[in-house]
Amino acid sequence: MIVVMKQRSSEDDLKRVVDLAKSFDFETNISKGAEKTIVGIIGDNVYERREAFEALNCVEEVIPVLKPFKLVSKEFHPEKTVIEIGTEKIGEKFQFIAGPCSVESKDQMEREAEFLSNLGIKFLRGGAFKPRTSPYAFQGLGIDGLKILKEVGEKYDMRIVSEMMAPEDISIFEEYVDVIQVGTRNMQNYRLLEQLGHSTKPVMLKRGFMSTVEEWLLAGEYLYYHGNSQIILCERGIRTFEKYTRNTLDISAVPLVKILSHLPIIVDLSHATGRRDLIPPLAKAVVAVGADGVMIEVHENPEKALSDGQQSLNFEEFASTYDTSMDLVKMMEEI
Ligand code: PEP
Ligand code: MN
Repeated sequence: MIVVMKQRSSEDDLKRVVDLAKSFDFETNISKGAEKTIVGIIGDNVYERREAFEALNCVEEVIPVLKPFKLVSKEFHPEKTVIEIGTEKIGEKFQFIAGPCSVESKDQMEREAEFLSNLGIKFLRGGAFKPRTSPYAFQGLGIDGLKILKEVGEKYDMRIVSEMMAPEDISIFEEYVDVIQVGTRNMQNYRLLEQLGHSTKPVMLKRGFMSTVEEWLLAGEYLYYHGNSQIILCERGIRTFEKYTRNTLDISAVPLVKILSHLPIIVDLSHATGRRDLIPPLAKAVVAVGADGVMIEVHENPEKALSDGQQSLNFEEFASTYDTSMDLVKMMEEI
């Protein structure tokens, strides 16, 4: 449930609410907004204790949260969450995350980073541990790939986003990566989510390709519950009967998540479509629908890419998509 504090209530008032919750063994989560301060309270049969909270004269009202997810919900935290990654932020201005599907070599990543950072892109992606459907497909460079990412990221002042598949890899990811990606296949790997919940690194949580928005938010709840509130949601398409596209982009998930949750949400257009030609028009839709950013796979020579070339833009295509999207971002800011 949530306890809405009366306006002008003091820090002492807040402490009284938190202490009362503690006396019942409940957990609390404070959200201080511009207008109201809200204390989210979680525990067994919590709403049965509402009268004790209502009796405090600093409490305006007590409201049950009937949704299965609590900490990630808008009720618990009406203010939008902004994730800080070094000097960069996700959840404030529209951001691009770009880079190849897989890290292939140091030279390749140098050229990518040079090109993208010159455009003004601050987030560089690249897979080093790849979740490939076939065991015969390129599996990624592993830790060597992470080392390349870190070196190149430092040189070009870019934040690194890369996917972690196994809980035991946490220490190397914490060393080399700025944002740890949870891939679509692992959205419901609860041991992985628990491990990342204990991490201090921001997590980009992709939507499972067979998952509902509620299951996705509950996966986010795992991260939050275990201690990590730095979560970026990433819609990357879901599996439907349509065969022309690799997945079906659920664009409605963006405004829906914004109604349900305070977490930032971005859209991965490469995996959502599986097709290079659909990325430029859909990038406009992503900006227009109010997402916090977009992720696009970019490769200097998509035909030669070791993975996902068919859904990667070349440098020229990416630059033009970036320009058009940024024009639209500016227009959106004016309306
Ligand atoms: C990726 O980002 O390279 C990736 C494998 O994505 P997903 O988990 O969405 O398929
Ligand atoms: Mn890919």
